[in-house]
Amino acid sequence: MKSLSEKLLVLQDIEIKLKEITSKEYLEKTGFEIDESKISEIEEYKKKLENEIPPQYLRRFKALINRYNRAVAIVYEDACSNCFSRLPKGIKRPNDNEAITCNVCGVFLYFP
Ligand SMILES: [Zn+2]
Repeated sequence: MKSLSEKLLVLQDIEIKLKEITSKEYLEKTGFEIDESKISEIEEYKKKLENEIPPQYLRRFKALINRYNRAVAIVYEDACSNCFSRLPKGIKRPNDNEAITCNVCGVFLYFP
């Protein structure tokens, strides 16, 4: 079973991808065309994943991604890779059904 923070991280990638492949600049830059079937395929995958995330986490995720285009940061050398603040000493990685947030910038933390 995948952990909650792993699911949030993948959901973030999906959100970024969807924004990217529907953006005018991206399409102009790459010469790609909007592929409607690919988009609906991704949308479907996204819905499936959202259904596996408890509503309180999903609400917070949506608020973060809509506002900052980022909702999850990978923990690297005991620091948040979004704001580069050191995490409090002795912070424990959450169990698989929980996700914790950075106490400085507020994004979810993914512990690799
Ligand atoms: Zn942070």
